[in-house]
Amino acid sequence: MKYISTRGDAPALSFEDVLLTGLASDGGLYVPENLPHYSAEEIRSWGGLSYDALAFKIIKPFVDGAIPDAELQAMITDSYRGFAHGAVAPLTQLDHNEYVLELFHGPTLAFKDFALQLLGRLLDYVLKKRGERAVIVGATSGDTGSAAIEGCKRCDNIDIVIMHPHNRVSDVQRRQMTTIAGDRIFNIAVEGNFDDCQEMVKASFADQKFLRGERRLVAVNSINWARIMAQIVYYFYAAINLGGPDRSVAFSVPTGNFGDIFAGYLAHKMGLPIDQLIVATNQNDILHRCLSQNNYEKRPLVPTFAPSMDIVVSSNFERLLFDVVGRDGHALKALVARMGKESVSLDDSAMASLRALFDSAAVTDAAASQTMKDVHQSCNYLLDPHTAIGVHAARSQRRSHDVPMVTLGTAHPVKFADAVDQAGLSRPDLPPHLIDLMTRDERYTVLPNDLSVIQDWIAEQVFG
Ligand SMILES: *Cc1c(COP(=O)(O)O)cnc(C)c1O
Repeated sequence: MKYISTRGDAPALSFEDVLLTGLASDGGLYVPENLPHYSAEEIRSWGGLSYDALAFKIIKPFVDGAIPDAELQAMITDSYRGFAHGAVAPLTQLDHNEYVLELFHGPTLAFKDFALQLLGRLLDYVLKKRGERAVIVGATSGDTGSAAIEGCKRCDNIDIVIMHPHNRVSDVQRRQMTTIAGDRIFNIAVEGNFDDCQEMVKASFADQKFLRGERRLVAVNSINWARIMAQIVYYFYAAINLGGPDRSVAFSVPTGNFGDIFAGYLAHKMGLPIDQLIVATNQNDILHRCLSQNNYEKRPLVPTFAPSMDIVVSSNFERLLFDVVGRDGHALKALVARMGKESVSLDDSAMASLRALFDSAAVTDAAASQTMKDVHQSCNYLLDPHTAIGVHAARSQRRSHDVPMVTLGTAHPVKFADAVDQAGLSRPDLPPHLIDLMTRDERYTVLPNDLSVIQDWIAEQVFG
């Protein structure tokens, strides 16, 4: 299987190369040239499979022989062995035909562990095989950083540098990154916001002169194809457990960069009967405005109580738009160039094709807080603010009450204690493996929002 860029001018890559690449050289994102497609009969035959056995079936064609089957299966099994729930991604029922798919039983208590536990192992394998070393430079608004560090901390050939905005992530989120011991782990608190951190990562990829000694720079945010790939699995797992493929399902997905929901879209294209995908945003609602009013326009960032979805532009939306414009990379490149500068509308047939599958809602903090209270009252279940946005959107946008509605539970509420307080609910306890988190030693360095200072620091600390 080859991977091609959404902007049409970069070379096609193999799985191994796409794993080790961030943005394509033309500024686009890599997507598979073709997707596998499964018949209902085949999906039905996966009925009894455990999470890791199903994951192997889904992931194998994308890896396309780059890793021998036995090793790939072992890596997948090992990735999910540490999850605190035997089902890995269990379904919890909230109401008649309404569920939460709990994706927060991994080591860092957010869905990002699903992809990053596997990504760390894939990178380690491929780098060892090639005898190469890599440096991960990543930015986080909270959850990606700890998941990336947890996923890569045992990789011998990887140094990992994570930038977070100083004083703008929750205490639990910061401590999940800064208390992980390891000589090759570097946390930088940047005196700026998340966008500043992300800009520095982009600048570092664009100009890699600060790297020393034959190292490769690897991306761990959701522009990395392998992250999306790993996330396709749980859509199949949930749907099959609810009677798929003989019964279709709907999903509501709390969305920021559109990575998670794009994986759902791919599951649909691969043959999984999905009736509806709901894009649930907070007040940073560029995707909701695009889908509901056909108006794609950047607006300033609004801090919300669901900070992992606080974004101005949604990078993976480009992967969907590529399909919408008939996979014409040059047409997409022109569209994206306009989107950076002005308010853009899509043509009617493009909108109609999107709306056949997608609905959307933008949910305020107040409305999500009310949903946290309602759900707590009706079934004694505590939602985190991101998942609450998903449940709120599911309830307002659902097309049919006969189709099971599954909201992706993207984080454990203990990560967002302030939002739990705001809803007037009591804070949950930290899980056993993190019980002493608040008293562990932290290691991080506060640096000014200045690219040359940060790159000099990396050169000295990481390569020095
Ligand atoms: C990252 C994150 C999201 C958004 O996921 P995308 O793939 O960027 O859409 C939602 N909820 C939580 C808790 C997250 O950490």
